[in-house]
Amino acid sequence: MSPWVGYVAFIAGNIAGVVIRVPHEKRSKEVRVAHDRKGIVEKMLLALLTVAVLLPLLSMATPVLAFADYSLRPACVAAGCVFMGLYLCLFHRSHADLGDNWSFTLQVREGHRLVTSGIYARIRHPMYSAIYMVAIAQVFLVPNCVAGPAMLVAFTAMVVLRVEAEERMMIDTFGDEYLAYARRTKRLIPGVW
Ligand code: SAH
Repeated sequence: MSPWVGYVAFIAGNIAGVVIRVPHEKRSKEVRVAHDRKGIVEKMLLALLTVAVLLPLLSMATPVLAFADYSLRPACVAAGCVFMGLYLCLFHRSHADLGDNWSFTLQVREGHRLVTSGIYARIRHPMYSAIYMVAIAQVFLVPNCVAGPAMLVAFTAMVVLRVEAEERMMIDTFGDEYLAYARRTKRLIPGVW
């Protein structure tokens, strides 16, 4: 089937994700940052993620990655749309539950509250679980061996390097409250990790 079907679903899902995020981004700008831990590793990871999300556009619009193209199957489009739907539900839920405490990067805001309810009662990093869903959707929807798995690889690096730093920041800020929360929840997959 035409690769455009996959690309269109990929772009539509990502635009919907931006639409979910924009109001939270605007609101979070109004709350002052108390501590910022955006170091060099974090900056490099954010750059890597930007490349990973732009590679599908490169493979769609130019022949640069044509050597890695393969044909798209209807079953892959269906699976990609399911993962995209899961991403949007979880992404919306986690933003709604985190509220004013959301930050694009490693930051603690003034009046920061530890959220342990809603989806956060089940896992500590539902937004990252959501981003894994969109990364898997990208694998299914982008029929290119380089651009398809790019987000999955980049985001795995992000999770490996960021989750520990983020949890350290939360422990420094909330102490025993966060340690107790961490004891009763898993990180990304309920009951597993
Ligand atoms: N890791 C979380 C949040 C991602 S947004 C998730 O995947 O859902 C990143 C910011 O959220 C961090 O800078 C931190 O300040 C904030 N944060 C993370 N967990 C939080 C929690 N349980 N309560 C309040 N703020 C949290």
